[in-house]
Amino acid sequence: MNATEPKIEELKQRLAEINDVRSAAAVLNWDQMTYMPPGGAEARGRQVATLEQIAHEKFTHPSIGRMLTELRSLERTFPADSDEAALIRIARRDYDRAVKVPPAFIAKFSAHQSATYEAWAKARPANDFAAVRPYLEKTLEYSRELANYFPGYDHIADPLIDFADFGMKAATVRALFAELRKELVPLVQAITAQPTADDTCLRQKFPEAQQLAFGCAVVKQLGYDFQRGRQDKTHHPFCTTFSLGDVRITTRVKEDNLGDALFSTIHEAGHAMYEQGIRRELEGTPLARGTSSGVHESQSRLWENLVGRGRGFWRYFYPKLQAAFPAQLGSVPLDMFYRAINKVERSLIRTDADEVTYNLHVMIRFDFELQLLEGKLAVRDLPEAWRERYKADLGIASPHDRDGVLQDVHWFGGQIGGSFQGYTLGNILSAQFYDAALRASPGIPDQIANGEFTTLHSWLQENIYQHGAKFTANEIVKRATGQPLTIEPYIRYLRTKYGELYKLG
Ligand code: ZN
Repeated sequence: MNATEPKIEELKQRLAEINDVRSAAAVLNWDQMTYMPPGGAEARGRQVATLEQIAHEKFTHPSIGRMLTELRSLERTFPADSDEAALIRIARRDYDRAVKVPPAFIAKFSAHQSATYEAWAKARPANDFAAVRPYLEKTLEYSRELANYFPGYDHIADPLIDFADFGMKAATVRALFAELRKELVPLVQAITAQPTADDTCLRQKFPEAQQLAFGCAVVKQLGYDFQRGRQDKTHHPFCTTFSLGDVRITTRVKEDNLGDALFSTIHEAGHAMYEQGIRRELEGTPLARGTSSGVHESQSRLWENLVGRGRGFWRYFYPKLQAAFPAQLGSVPLDMFYRAINKVERSLIRTDADEVTYNLHVMIRFDFELQLLEGKLAVRDLPEAWRERYKADLGIASPHDRDGVLQDVHWFGGQIGGSFQGYTLGNILSAQFYDAALRASPGIPDQIANGEFTTLHSWLQENIYQHGAKFTANEIVKRATGQPLTIEPYIRYLRTKYGELYKLG
């Protein structure tokens, strides 16, 4: 027995208590988003804030710092890729981050974020950017202040990007996006020069109950475990983890749009299968979570797009979908349905965008975050800058801010900086991981066309899920795919799929 082990056990126990408090706050949040009556909002906000403060105080307690300092010198007594070494490393990283930001700032910023969210929730439907402008200006100030608690950066966005996607910097993301953009822009041009796909088959009336039942049946078959999860309805779909035995998803249903609930259910189940797949030994530690926003998003996107919008997937599921909606889809051929769910068009709303144009929406937001933080763009000029950039990149612009700068919650409930790059990193990685799984098991596409997902699920479990946050994103990509992050598989995937769909030369 290693002499360090009792110390590790003590650390684990303390971290597990903190994790319990945070999980309790997550349950309260989930309840607020699903079943809580509106009258509970005020008290609930306070209750969650209290629990978060308790967790923060417990975690930043000097005794935790002392334990981590002692353990740091002992880290080398464990193999570098052991759970123990990873625990010491990641807990230390979280701790250093947590103690650098003064509690008074956290309280101030968090109260401001709630107030901004409330203001945004009213301003967006009213199309009233002026009403949230002062809030957003303050958010920009706070975001800069937050970054400046981590001096020594190359770009002021670096610390904020690092929180979400450890190891990434503004410069690396910028270079990667420029490379991707060079490929995407001509592809979008070539596709949109072709006749547009007809997606009216998705825009009939599809009763909610049948939609929910079908979505649940699909994700169950993919491998989402309802013994350790459940699905409820919310305004905005999300996935939340209370323990490795309780990872929940939510969805929303639009009766006049079949794709909305279906693909968001598969998306959230992708996030959830990642967390359900984390090894039980990591429960209660900071390793029992996804390793970065990009890797998390790669798991939702892999199931939603590479699997769920694929032809083979629907060869198996389409007859079942037709049986669930015989009047709506009985006479719609598979090929027409497949084209409808993969329709590419220049659009205004990021969350409704197709696979090909989606990343252009992300790049716009990423660039604006950098410009705002650099002081090169003022908040008051943002709506006009938004319109100009949409015109330039996507060829369309909304006269209404509600479909422009006000559309995403991120800046209005969080911070400016680091909020968006994970979506595109996730898209890129989804193809890189899928490609590696196919190299290991070339039979996966045939299995999918027969409704069998076990081989793919097991590959993800083995190479990604089980590790949680034990390895960094860069490490997991290298281990699972044999090379660092690359856009090549993603570009190849898009070119092949959409080249065939839109008959490009
Ligand atoms: Zn997601």
